[in-house]
Amino acid sequence: MSTAPVGSSASGEALAQAISGNIATIRNRIAKAALAARRDPAEIRLIAVSKAQPADRIQAALAAGQRLFGENRVQEAQARWPDLRAAHPDLEIHLIGPLQTNKVKEAVALFDAIETVDRPKLAQALAAEMEKAGRRLPCYVQVNTGEEEQKAGALPEEADGFIADCRALGLDIVGLMCIPPVEEEAGLHFALLREIARRNGIERLSMGMSADYEAAILFGATEVRVGTAIFGDRGDWRQLVGR
Ligand SMILES: *Cc1c(COP(=O)(O)O)cnc(C)c1O
Repeated sequence: MSTAPVGSSASGEALAQAISGNIATIRNRIAKAALAARRDPAEIRLIAVSKAQPADRIQAALAAGQRLFGENRVQEAQARWPDLRAAHPDLEIHLIGPLQTNKVKEAVALFDAIETVDRPKLAQALAAEMEKAGRRLPCYVQVNTGEEEQKAGALPEEADGFIADCRALGLDIVGLMCIPPVEEEAGLHFALLREIARRNGIERLSMGMSADYEAAILFGATEVRVGTAIFGDRGDWRQLVGR
């Protein structure tokens, strides 16, 4: 059972049905994976990754009852969510993309959790802004489990020290997050993240995307971040509107 492709020409009713069907399918698969891992399905939260998706697809997910979303870019999220929050006060939006220190103020005001705390300078800026704004958000440390040069995240051997430094700054580190290298067995990376969390007394693990969220659940994921399996390809609508 796989999710349905959301065609670029889908509109109105068809779009709403495709997206609500995809969400139902994924929730089902999450529950099955949890049971297979002898875990309570209620422990696992589905983050709908809405980055680069058009507004009607987000509306369809909201209509299907989805309330937890992930965004990659501060500016894009800023343009989309403040209005939607007025209509849906129970929304929860996580930042799952890289954060520049000059966007920290906006990010702290806008998001409900920051999943990409990855370097000391950012940790300091976040701690200072949260103090100033009186808004102490749950944070996740991003770990570059594959030690990839192009990827953000603390290196695995630096993670313990970095987590301790974040906590000393006053950040509320509730979880760890990773994005495994595409060409490698994701399970090894999920296991490494789980081990770093365990030895640091951290409970939440944000790991697993459209291709591997069930595997991530076997390794202890508490948040899975799923984009294309819910909303369809991010590429096709851009072509459609000439972006
Ligand atoms: C885009 C993105 C996802 C979702 O990826 P899909 O393969 O579309 O499910 C998850 N996590 C992060 C950090 C992302 O940037």
